[in-house]
Amino acid sequence: MKQFEVIIGLEVHVELKTRSKLFCGCSTEFGSDPNTHSCPVCLGMPGVLPVLNREAVVYATKAALALQCSVHTYSKFDRKQYFYPDLPKAYQISQYDQPLAEYGRVPIVIDGVVEKTARVRRIHLEEDAGKLNHLGQRLGDAKGSLVDLNRAGVPLIEIVSEPDMNSADEARLYLTELRNILSYLDISDLRMEEGSMRCDANVSLRPDGYVGSVEDLPRVEIKNVNSIRNVQRGIEYEILRQTELLQAGERIVKETRGFDDQKGRTYSQRSKEEANDYRYFPEPDLPPLILSDAFIQDVQDSLPPSTVALREELRTAGVQPKDVEVILSDPHALIFWRRATALFRDARMVTNWMLSDLSRLLNTHGHNFATAPISPRGLVDLLNLIMGGTLSGKMAKEVLDNMYETQKPAEVVVHELGLIQITDAEAIKKVVEETVALHKQVVEDYLSGKEKALGFLVGQVMKKTKGQAKPDVVNATLKDVIRDFADKT
Ligand code: ADP
Ligand code: MG
Ligand code: ZN
Repeated sequence: MKQFEVIIGLEVHVELKTRSKLFCGCSTEFGSDPNTHSCPVCLGMPGVLPVLNREAVVYATKAALALQCSVHTYSKFDRKQYFYPDLPKAYQISQYDQPLAEYGRVPIVIDGVVEKTARVRRIHLEEDAGKLNHLGQRLGDAKGSLVDLNRAGVPLIEIVSEPDMNSADEARLYLTELRNILSYLDISDLRMEEGSMRCDANVSLRPDGYVGSVEDLPRVEIKNVNSIRNVQRGIEYEILRQTELLQAGERIVKETRGFDDQKGRTYSQRSKEEANDYRYFPEPDLPPLILSDAFIQDVQDSLPPSTVALREELRTAGVQPKDVEVILSDPHALIFWRRATALFRDARMVTNWMLSDLSRLLNTHGHNFATAPISPRGLVDLLNLIMGGTLSGKMAKEVLDNMYETQKPAEVVVHELGLIQITDAEAIKKVVEETVALHKQVVEDYLSGKEKALGFLVGQVMKKTKGQAKPDVVNATLKDVIRDFADKT
């Protein structure tokens, strides 16, 4: 049977969180009442002139440099023309043949190791369109549509990859790393479900022995999927669909497809337009974008460490590969982790508490590591009580829950709950002896070989001490006392 190589290229739109829009002073705030952030410029009135937002250029340059692109000192804006009700000017200001930046790279990381590098073809600046709100469940049966232009003119960067991904999984890893890298720049909310990060996935299959250009393979573009997981699912489906078609001797139609996340299937939307359908031409109302070398260098100098360097930092501290990825994916988690590990030696223990119990509390309360009511110092105080033997792990969880609710320091909570772990051997021995005396039959059972009987006795001691006895001390003491008991009888 014929073999096919999977070829995937990704186009990612990222909304920049500048205060104002790309070419006017309107606010970019998300979630306001419809059409409260609009003006003659973003409404496309005649006779107005766009003025480029400097902050957007800084953000876009940051992204380009963090993705290791060459940033061009000369780039220009073009009009991309099409008609749609969310685009009042009937053209979008974008960058066509001379984009802001080219030739970048995104590492594809598996288990903390850079397995390969996907190339970024180009990054350009453009404005977003408005939004249509359909009056009904679906466009098909909507009674009408309302236009909201709050988003019209919000700055976007489009990051176009080379067709370097060869599986749905690699596409997922590319997007995850792209988001990781951008998240440290603080230039976008990067929320796929809110549309501040959007991805179009181009998928094609190259038959064995195909010698033509990859660009000429008929490809399908899956549009605007709302999560990384769904991009992966859409690509997986598309690979199956195209494989079946090709094996049946049919042709792939070059088209744009949507993804139905309920059914897990892509569906045809429209045949794909070509660049010349847009009648691109240079934007006459804006001068070219000229950046000085000094400006580019300043932005370069302001960049945070790369994700590869951050991974190395976490790995060297002893964090497990899986946990490294979780912390890395959230800059607030990394800040928290750094502060906590600066105060506490065992980085793995800090990580475990952060990612299990503290994360559980954050999730239940809708908090994150930046808004957590427990500080790194607070967590470390708790960990010190465990290390010092005052608290067992189980008791510490209870203390953490309580600290979270009351925002009191660990020591205070421990005192209030009367939760001191009993490590005093004499005190434990006394309870153990009482227990043994009370359950002679169980002790006999244990001595005659029923291992399980010991568990019952441990349980009784823990109950009497309200869980505050140190379990390993209880175990050892029980065995001692039982041995004495056996010797005597
Ligand atoms: P378009 O305007 O058609 O979307 P772009 O130049 O914006 O074209 O983007 C093309 C995208 O398609 C790039 O991400 C590129 O990597 C990708 N691509 C090119 N050839 C293939 C292919 N054979 N299979 C999958 N993706 C491809
Ligand atoms: Mg495109
Ligand atoms: Zn405006």
